[in-house]
Amino acid sequence: MHFKGIELKEFSIPFVGLANKKYTFNYHIDKKFFDNFEFSPVKDGDLAVKLTFDKQDAVFILDFDLKGNVELTCDLCSDSFSYEISKSSRAIIKLSGNEMEDTDEILYLENNSSELNVTQLIYEFISLAIPLKRVHPSDKDGKNSCDPEAIKLLNKISVNSDSNKNIDPRWESLSKLLN
Ligand SMILES: [Zn+2]
Repeated sequence: MHFKGIELKEFSIPFVGLANKKYTFNYHIDKKFFDNFEFSPVKDGDLAVKLTFDKQDAVFILDFDLKGNVELTCDLCSDSFSYEISKSSRAIIKLSGNEMEDTDEILYLENNSSELNVTQLIYEFISLAIPLKRVHPSDKDGKNSCDPEAIKLLNKISVNSDSNKNIDPRWESLSKLLN
């Protein structure tokens, strides 16, 4: 987990001067957000992110509540489909005077910082909320709901590439010897 990376202005929390209590921030995530991440598995979406920011002296507890849909590309037919996300994620951020290695549980921010940017955190939590294997969900009869035309086309391509396999001539003569 990282929170340093891409920083969009609207996701900055100027915490200096804030009293020690809980604050709520609401963000809307859409295509414009994902456009900032070149290798994002998500290119489009419509998500509401509610952040509860619990400010204490040298530690901040951030609870993210992600709700909405993202557009994913199917691994099988490369058509897009909508995937629903409803997830809560927590990040703990500590202020430190020393260079500290982030862990999975705790992230460190230099103690002379005056603001915290949550762009990268939101991106990483969304990435963690989507499945590793991205395929069209099955319909109510349990059938795969991929684009049938695209699947037909893909099958054709793979059959053709099998039958036209170019055999290295050295292997060809070797296989003749073996036969
Ligand atoms: Zn599909």
